Amino acid sequence: MPWLFFALLLALAGVVLLLYARRQRQIAGLPSGEIVYADTGAWQRCERPLFSQRHRLSGKPDYLVREHGRIVPVEVKPNRQAAEPYEGDILQLAAYCLLVEEEYGQRPRYGYLKYEQAVFRINYTGNLRHHVLSRLEAMRRDFRASDVAPNHNEARRCLYCGHRYVCDRRLA
Ligand code: SF4
Repeated sequence: MPWLFFALLLALAGVVLLLYARRQRQIAGLPSGEIVYADTGAWQRCERPLFSQRHRLSGKPDYLVREHGRIVPVEVKPNRQAAEPYEGDILQLAAYCLLVEEEYGQRPRYGYLKYEQAVFRINYTGNLRHHVLSRLEAMRRDFRASDVAPNHNEARRCLYCGHRYVCDRRLA
């Protein structure tokens, strides 16, 4: 039954990819996140952007919630389906943790990432904080540089990119 063989092969490839992505995140020092039950009714819409003068950064998480005396940011990706959070989403949430830390004077211990079917709790570790600060610095360096090579090879990403009409590196 060749179809069974291919189905097994596909399932195996999926598991290998998942393990690879997890390993890459561990190497980068990023937490992989834990699926939790979250009381979404307690989440309050974040009505205004948060701002950090020190880090020259601003952003607006979807929600904020107070837990154990601390403000926790929440980012919602309603159409995202994945067994594990994407690295880019983890970094976005970490940037919100940084902003909450600046605005409220208390470092959140974690943030929530809500995908279509699961809520992940992402620990805001010292490593993750360091990682997001390094990424911000790298982005600023790239911004000042006269030419920057794309960090991906995905035409699809360019198709949906807001900068594609002015980007001479676009792949689609
Ligand atoms: S269009 Fe340019 S900026 Fe946008 S994703 Fe592609 S390479 Fe990156």
